Amino acid sequence: MAKRMLFVYNPMAGKEQIHNKLSDIIQIFCKADFEVTIFSTSGKGDAEEIVAKKGNNYDYVVCSGGDGTMNEVAAGLMQLENRPVCGYIPAGTVNDFASSLKIPKIMKRAAQLVVDGSIFECDMGKFNNKYFTYVAGFGAFTEVSYQTPQEWKNALGKMAYFGEALKHITDIKPHHMTIKCDDGMYEDDFVLGLVSNSVSVAGYKAYSKKNIKMDDGKFEAIFIRNPRNPIELQQVLNALLSKELDAEQILYFCSKNINIISEDEVSWTLDGEDGGICSKVEMENINKALSIVCDSSAYEAVSCRSE
Ligand SMILES: [Mg+2]
Repeated sequence: MAKRMLFVYNPMAGKEQIHNKLSDIIQIFCKADFEVTIFSTSGKGDAEEIVAKKGNNYDYVVCSGGDGTMNEVAAGLMQLENRPVCGYIPAGTVNDFASSLKIPKIMKRAAQLVVDGSIFECDMGKFNNKYFTYVAGFGAFTEVSYQTPQEWKNALGKMAYFGEALKHITDIKPHHMTIKCDDGMYEDDFVLGLVSNSVSVAGYKAYSKKNIKMDDGKFEAIFIRNPRNPIELQQVLNALLSKELDAEQILYFCSKNINIISEDEVSWTLDGEDGGICSKVEMENINKALSIVCDSSAYEAVSCRSE
C-alpha cells in the first residue's frame, strides 16, 4: 500500500527557492510510492495547525522551510498521539537542526534523503507550553537572530550573523536570574542564555570538544554572566572562540529539566523565532519524541545507541 505523506512548505522561506524545485521534489516522493498531500503555508501558525489537525492521517509529515517552519511542524507533531515520521527539506539560511542531522542543503538531495535515510528518534524541548527542536535562548545572540530581517540573513550568511551578535554583547541589559537544573541552582546577572539540543547553534559549534547526543534526554546549556569590565568581556569572547567554555563568566551544564525565574520579563527565542516574553520558564527535554529522517552518518554522530 502507498505510504501517505503530508508535505507542508513555506513558499517564502530562504530565497523563495522552492518555487522551481517543487515539481522535482514531489516527483521524488511519488516515485518512491508516496501518496502526497501538499499544503502551502500563508502565515505564522499555519504549519503547526495543519499538522496538529491532519497529521494523524499520514505515515509521514515532511516540511520545507526555515527553522521556523520546522519548529511549527514539530510542535504540531507533539500534539499527536501516534506521531508520523518527520522529514525536513531546509530552505532557510540558518538551519542548525538540519546540519546537525546532516540533512543536505540541496533540496532535491534532502527530498531523496526523506525516501532513503535513517529514522532517528530525536529529543524535543518543551518550553512552558511551547516546543523547540534545537535551541531556546535569550540575550545578545538571540535578539540579533530574530530582529535581523530575512533579506539580511540571506545576504549575511550565518558567520556574519554570529559575529554581529557578539559585537552587541555589551549593549545588552543583564537579567537577574535564578536557574535550577538537575544538579544545582545558580543565581546571577546573565546577558545571554542558550539551551540547546543540537551540534551547532546559528552555525556556531560551541561544543566542538564534546560529543553532542540528540537522544540522550539532556540539553546542553550555556549562560553568560554579565561581564563587569573589558577584561571579563575579553575572557568570555576568548572562551567562546576557543570553545573551551572554561571562563568564570560562563556557566555551562547538561540537564533534563531547567527552570528559570527572572526578576524582570525576558524575551526568548525558540529555534530562532520569537518565543514570547516571560519571567518564569520551565524547560523539559522530552526524550526521543520526534522520529525524523536523517543521514546515516549523522545517526552515528548524534545517537547514544551508536556507541
Ligand atoms: Mg542531548
